[in-house]
Amino acid sequence: VHPAETLVHAFRDSVARAPGHPALAYFDGRLTYREADELSDSVAGHLAARGLERGDRVAIMLQNSPQFVLALLGAWKAGATVVPLNPMYKSAEVGHVLKDAEVTALICSDRAWEAYLRDTAAGALSVRIAVTACELDLQTSSDERVLNFERLPAAYDADDLVAVARQGLAAPAGRELAATDVALISYTSGTSGTPKGAMNSHGNIMVNAERQRTGHPIAEGSAYFALAPLFHITGMVCQLAACLTNAGTLVLAYRFHPGVVLDAFTEHRPAYTVGPSTAFMALAATPGVTPEHFSSFQVISSGGAPLPPALVEKFRSGFGPYIRNGYGLTECTAPCASVPPEREAPVDPVSGTLSVGVPGPDTVVRIIDENGAEVPFGEQGEIAVRGPQVVTGYWRLPEATTAAFPDGELRTGDIGFMDRAGWLYVVDRKKDMINASGFKVWPREVEDVLYTHPAVREAAVVGVPDAYRGETVRAYVSLRPGASVEPGELGAYCKERLAAYKYPREVEILTELPKTASGKILRRELRSPR
Ligand code: ATP
Repeated sequence: VHPAETLVHAFRDSVARAPGHPALAYFDGRLTYREADELSDSVAGHLAARGLERGDRVAIMLQNSPQFVLALLGAWKAGATVVPLNPMYKSAEVGHVLKDAEVTALICSDRAWEAYLRDTAAGALSVRIAVTACELDLQTSSDERVLNFERLPAAYDADDLVAVARQGLAAPAGRELAATDVALISYTSGTSGTPKGAMNSHGNIMVNAERQRTGHPIAEGSAYFALAPLFHITGMVCQLAACLTNAGTLVLAYRFHPGVVLDAFTEHRPAYTVGPSTAFMALAATPGVTPEHFSSFQVISSGGAPLPPALVEKFRSGFGPYIRNGYGLTECTAPCASVPPEREAPVDPVSGTLSVGVPGPDTVVRIIDENGAEVPFGEQGEIAVRGPQVVTGYWRLPEATTAAFPDGELRTGDIGFMDRAGWLYVVDRKKDMINASGFKVWPREVEDVLYTHPAVREAAVVGVPDAYRGETVRAYVSLRPGASVEPGELGAYCKERLAAYKYPREVEILTELPKTASGKILRRELRSPR
């Protein structure tokens, strides 16, 4: 466990150790630890002066930018609970969360506010802080990709974050938070339905930040590249929290754009990054990518979505680094299992699934049947997790909390198994199982086979209604640049490698597969009638 109660405490320790070291890097802009501390103090002072009280909810709806970090630290320094919002949310989704969490202050881009938030949100808020400086179009010239601290907007009906940060206010006194306070209400990204707000405490965050530090040791002061979005728990904990507790430089690049990311690797020489596997697929397929782009990395992790073994091998043979798998959920504040340093995750010889690692310290993972009883090694069941990173429940949803956390143990809704050596394997989400003529088909297994085909860039497999079989297996794929293949050829390729009831009888090629803002492929969207 990290000795600091909250990330604010750990951040202040880094300020004391390395005041002049860059804490944040954004294109040509840099903010040192001391500057980030002072600017976020001022955000806190402003929020308090505007009437925000300890425990109030502040929603932050921003892409990866310095402003995100200043808003986050500022809100915590003011004693608030932060509600990170996916910047791709539209009015109805934001409206639901703002109301559900009773948010009083919203920090969002002015463009989003004008485009679709004003009507939904205006009445509910007492404070709004606008962010304009990080609203970038990455296709534009590089001189626009600056922190833009000098260029303030002409006129606004809201305070501008940069102006607020530069007011030079002090953080309010008496707002210190403790490990047990709720740091975040994280609405799960919704690959499966209506978002529920998981309450991550500061203690939950610090446990996993510390685990990240000891589990993937990175030299103090190193650069961490924020590949995962910061509003998502993986980005928040494994990148932002791990970096700021280690006096590192958090390198930000707005939204994921492969060319921009590779340029930033060259410029900042990051030691660490974590992202969904789809980001690594995109980087590997970017024209001009070379092993040199990845030569500074000490650790590259993938989490939050299945990692096909074929991708790990393609990446290693093509570019050098070994991608370390990790398994986590919003409800366990990012990882609960990962691959220990110096080890490589085994591949299950029967299913071909890559292990997600071993449970972390003080974390107990059980594989259980419908009655909650543990199943023998190697047998499939639901993954249940107990540990210091597991949240106590969902915001104001006592029934959903009891269902998901009986006796405090998290029922993940994922099906998995554990081998005798203690390696955990995630088979798939319980609700994504396809029932084809009574046979169970796990989409993951079929996708893993598709990923071994040289033409395939991304793959998603879903069940679609079928008059004869009940459900039938359909695959959607996108292709690598320059590759071409007939859908029928991919079906036949799978048929050679899978049992007859598993291979996709229908294959459709799309230019791009639908994804969440955190980069996960949205099977749900592919299942709905098109
Ligand atoms: P929902 O809204 O249904 O809760 P989500 O994708 O929004 O889904 P997250 O907490 O972001 O929720 O993601 C957690 C899920 O991601 C896990 O339950 C699991 O299905 C999947 N996942 C995470 N890591 C891995 C991994 N290494 N391998 C396979 N699946 C993974």
